[in-house]
Formats: sequence, C-alpha cells, structure tokens
Amino acid sequence: MNYKNFPMVPRVIFGRGSFNQINDVLAPKRKSINAPFIFLIDDVFRGNPWLTSRIELAYDDKIIFIPTKEEPKTEQIDTLVEEIILQAKERPSGIIGIGGGTVLDIAKAVAIMITNSGEAKDYQGWDLVKNPAIYHVGIPTISGTGAEVSRTTVLTGPEKKLGINSDFTPFDQVILDSELTKDVPKEQWFYTGMDCYIHCIESLTGTFLNEFSKSYGEKAFELCKQIFLDDTLSKRDSQEKLMMASWHGGMSIAYSQVGVAHALSYGLAFLLGIKHGIGNCIVFDHLEDFYPEGVALFKKMKAKHDIELPQGICANLSDNDFNTMIKVALGLEPLWENALGKNWQNIATPERLRSLYEKM
Ligand code: NAD
Ligand code: ZN
Repeated sequence: MNYKNFPMVPRVIFGRGSFNQINDVLAPKRKSINAPFIFLIDDVFRGNPWLTSRIELAYDDKIIFIPTKEEPKTEQIDTLVEEIILQAKERPSGIIGIGGGTVLDIAKAVAIMITNSGEAKDYQGWDLVKNPAIYHVGIPTISGTGAEVSRTTVLTGPEKKLGINSDFTPFDQVILDSELTKDVPKEQWFYTGMDCYIHCIESLTGTFLNEFSKSYGEKAFELCKQIFLDDTLSKRDSQEKLMMASWHGGMSIAYSQVGVAHALSYGLAFLLGIKHGIGNCIVFDHLEDFYPEGVALFKKMKAKHDIELPQGICANLSDNDFNTMIKVALGLEPLWENALGKNWQNIATPERLRSLYEKM
C-alpha cells in the first residue's frame, strides 16, 4: 500500500473581523516595489467600500473584479494570466482571491499558471503541474465548497470539467472571517451550504473512507445539521459554523472522494452550465436509492428553508445531449468507485444515468 502524502494549507487565520489583518499578512510577502499583489475579487463586491476600502493598495497592486455568473473556464485563466504578466514589471508577489468557490478556484489556477508554461487545460488532471505556484491567499466570502482548503481548482475546459489537482494548488494562507458572508442571499447560502453537506454524505458513505476523512466528515455533518435544522442558532454562530463545516467537509474529501451527486452534477454543468451548488441539489434530490438517509435529511432541510429547486431542466434534451452528460459523468471514475466500489460499472450503467437525468 502506497499512502498518499497530502499538502495542507500551512497558515490560517480564523475570526470575525480578521479580514482587517490582510495588509499585515501580505506586507512581509512583498518581493519588491515592482512585484505587485493582484487581488481577484468577486464582482458582487464592486462598489462595496466596506470590503475594498480595507485593502491598502501600494505601488502597482491591482484589483481585478471577477464575474461569477459562469464557473471558471481554462481560457479565462489563460487570459487573466496573460493580462497580469503583460502589465506587471516583475512576477507578482502574490495572488489574493476574495469570493466564493469560483473566485477561489480562479486565484489558485492563476497562481499556478504564472509559473507554468502552456495553457491551463494542459494541467487538468492529477499531478501534472511542474513548478510551484506563486504565493496565493484565499479569503472565502460564502461557505460550503471547501475550495479554501482543497488540493484542486475545478475548471471547465474545451473537453472536460476537471480540476487541476496538485501539491501546488492549496493556498499558502487562508483568512476565515465569517463576517464576509453576512450578505449572501438565502438561496445561494442554501445551495453552497448543501455542497458541503453533500461532500459529507458522499465521503462518509464512500468505500474510500478512512479514519482521517471520517473524523473531518462527521464533524462537518454535525455542524450542517445544526446550521440547517436548529432554529435557536444566532445568525453569527450559524455563519461561523458553516465556515468551519466547509473547511472540515473539504478536508474530509481530501483523503477520500465525492460520489454520485458530484459526478452527475458535473454532467449538468458541462452541458447546461448549471452551477455547482444548485446542480448538486437538483441531482441529490433524486438519489434516494444511493443515499437514502442523506437524501431524506436533505429534503427536510429544503422544506424547512422553503427552497424550490428548478424542475424539468432535462425535458427538452436530445439523445446527443443526454449522451454528452452521461459521458462526462461516467468519465469521473474515482467518484463512482468511491460511491459504489470496484464493480461500479455494473450499477452505474448509461441507461441508469439516463433515467436519473430524465427525472431532473
Ligand atoms: P460562487 O463562487 O459562484 O458564488 C455564488 C454566488 O454567490 C455568486 O453570485 C457570488 O457573487 C455570490 N456571493 C459570494 N459571496 C457573496 C457575499 N458575501 N455576499 C453576496 N453574494 C455573494 O459559488 P460557490 O458555490 O461558492 O462555488 C462554486 C464553484 O466552486 C464552482 O465553480 C465549483 O466547481 C467550485 N468548487 C470547487 C471546489 C474545490 O475544491 N476547488 C469544491 C467545490 C466546488
Ligand atoms: Zn462540491
């Protein structure tokens, strides 16, 4: 048995208001006056001085606002990297991502592609990155994906939706300030929070589970139950707990894998551009055969928060469309093996997937 040797985020600050320390954290990391810090910030914070006025820009430092209507694309990374390299006098001192899973993944990918030649799509897969990334910092403003802690940055390329999984992907520094999540709209809070819940279910019921993953997964699962079912929690407690649930959920899948919901959701994302959080919810709602207890609890949470999921999204699809989604989903072999064991192909047949997609 060859055990995996995973990197972890080496530095983390946790606390309400800790975002105020951003300038002190970055100062010692500045390489020179010609090596700027590049802040990639979710577009939702454009014109929001509550957040942006706390960032002290010096020399050639720059903020780039990132739209999040669509999930990250490999071409988008290539364009951003080109723009940054062309404008900076020297290689930047660091990339700081401030936002949800979309912006955090873009920050990780840009930091990698600044030091690795070629195009981002060349690195989609496992351990293809050759050179260490530049210094990169992740600051989540919505909780659930675990992107702040994971070893991957999920990108949609011309041929596939697949992460750049590498030892150079994790952030060098994370700042967890739950106050940054205070204005997340309810629906989005639920969808991204359920990403965390689904990470727990898929990890805890998977065949890859070990005590390392289990200890993180159980903690995240407990926190999710409190956050989504306990009325007595204050808003502030709930935001802090979800931030830690996201972290633990991410740590749980680091040493195991996700499962059926993620595989099918990647199919929806690839063909229809359906975003990760809501896509996972749409899929998970129909997975009672695979995750009976997890789905029952999900439905309870959904009802409690009055969440109406879109219906009939696959109603007008062609055979070709279904086949594309099925191909993307079945291509994610480790996810199926984790969910169903070595003989997963006997259970997860194209016909079974088609009938699941037809229900959505
Ligand atoms: P997101 O980053 O797209 O954000 C969702 C929405 O919430 C956006 O409209 C954004 O503007 C808004 N938002 C974010 N913070 C806000 C705030 N404080 N106030 C108001 N609005 C706010 O969504 P997400 O669910 O966080 O991330 C999804 C992405 O994460 C997908 O691209 C998915 O592939 C990726 N992902 C990555 C990993 C990983 O390990 N790298 C894991 C899971 C998902
Ligand atoms: Zn996920």
